[in-house]
Amino acid sequence: MQTFQQYIGGAFEDAGETFETLDPATGKPWAQMPAASPADVDRAVRAAEAAFFSPEWAGMTATQRGKLLMRLADLVAEHAPKLAELETRDTGKIIRETSAQIAYVAEYYRYYAGLADKIEGAHLPIDKPDMEVWLRREPVGVVAAIVPWNSQLFLSAVKIGPALAAGCTVVLKASEEGPAPMLEFARIFDQAGFPAGVLNVITGGPEAGAALTSHAGVAHVAFTGGPETARHIVRNSAENLASTSLELGGKSPFIVFDDADLESAVNAQVSGIFAATGQSCVAGSRLVIQKGIKDAFLARLKEKAEAVVIGAPDDMATEVGPLCTLKQRDHALRLIEASAQAGAKVVTGGAALEGQGFFFPPTVLDCSDAPEAPCLSNEFFGPVLSVVDFETEAEALEIANNTAFGLASGVFTRNLTRAHRMIRGIRAGIVWVNTYRAVSPIAPFGGHGLSGHGREGGLQAALDYTKVKAVWLRTSDDPIPDPFVMR
Ligand code: NAD
Repeated sequence: MQTFQQYIGGAFEDAGETFETLDPATGKPWAQMPAASPADVDRAVRAAEAAFFSPEWAGMTATQRGKLLMRLADLVAEHAPKLAELETRDTGKIIRETSAQIAYVAEYYRYYAGLADKIEGAHLPIDKPDMEVWLRREPVGVVAAIVPWNSQLFLSAVKIGPALAAGCTVVLKASEEGPAPMLEFARIFDQAGFPAGVLNVITGGPEAGAALTSHAGVAHVAFTGGPETARHIVRNSAENLASTSLELGGKSPFIVFDDADLESAVNAQVSGIFAATGQSCVAGSRLVIQKGIKDAFLARLKEKAEAVVIGAPDDMATEVGPLCTLKQRDHALRLIEASAQAGAKVVTGGAALEGQGFFFPPTVLDCSDAPEAPCLSNEFFGPVLSVVDFETEAEALEIANNTAFGLASGVFTRNLTRAHRMIRGIRAGIVWVNTYRAVSPIAPFGGHGLSGHGREGGLQAALDYTKVKAVWLRTSDDPIPDPFVMR
């Protein structure tokens, strides 16, 4: 069994307790992970706080911070194969995806490296002749970053990158499911030359998370995970009135009109629901399809779903690997059963695969005659697609917006004016037109409603890790007039 250590105040150390992590491809334990106790969490926040006010970090220019982030980007790129291997081993995410994704994670650090000295304040044309007024943008303080098990390196980069660019310090809690890549990332981070305590990496479950988010030293909580956990986090962070950014789940509509390019739309749908074994917050998990194209689309989709290569996540040929946990697999089975009872018809898949590991096949459920089926409103976080058909554009929009979530959406049509109407009408943080699942450090990412609030990626994310200070400087040497009148 391999063992991993936590990273606090620039030192690697064992935690008082450990827990085993499972290899989802075999269902067997393979490594011992440190379980941060509330005392460990407290030390990590204090280390981040000390670093935040230290001359080594607080006195560093933004350009110097950018250079360190650039060095980190280079190190992530250099060590991407090792990080990908660990993420695959510990979470079951296929190596084909982790290799490509982690190489791209380096680009996120590069983007925020470049942005560090472009986070500007402002000078205000104030309405008083003897005053200069300007705004300083200052870092918010210690950031608690909490990530779920899928894509931890990616989901942490969109927090650590902008937070450090802005001058904050971070305590990152990795998920208790598959924390190995984050603890290895800490080893890489350590080589970049940041002052001790600027980033601290711990792991553990809800107890460690609750201790972190309710800690008085935390100024902002950046969370990615499920809506239920988000509610706990908001309640805990309310103790110190810390600000929050929440990237939560989705039930994203994937809308296909009769005039769409069929092959292209089917491929995008395969990517939208079966890639990453469907364990993606932006999964296009509701296919909203116009009646005229439905049969042809479903026939082609079924063909592709049944041809998907299911196998060991560390095999480059594998397209769909295991789900990360047994709990996820059982959740999928329960939701399919309840949906079938409500009238959903299984087009393909629907039952867990025999043998070891947490494998689940690509599944399609036709809910066109079962509008109340729970699979249309609940997130699977697995390779399961629910289908609803429609006749008119207005109907398509109504179905698309019939969700408490609002993260992503896809529209497939060759009709330009209709595409624009759909873009305006869809209530979601991302609209992809004739494409799906495209991301970039330059574009903001985030949702509405149960999908959360705040944005990751782009300039806005870095600004969200700053607070504005208004500075007033009087330029007159005359005595201050009437002190009883507001100036
Ligand atoms: P989860 O909410 O169960 O756990 C996420 C993290 O929160 C873990 O690190 C966990 O230890 C921690 N946590 C649990 N209880 C806590 C508490 N009381 N206080 C503080 N922290 C606590 O989510 P999951 O099952 O690991 O991940 C799947 C969810 O994440 C899905 O809903 C998915 O859509 C969402 N997700 C969203 C995005 C996005 O960017 N919008 C990206 C990926 C995943």
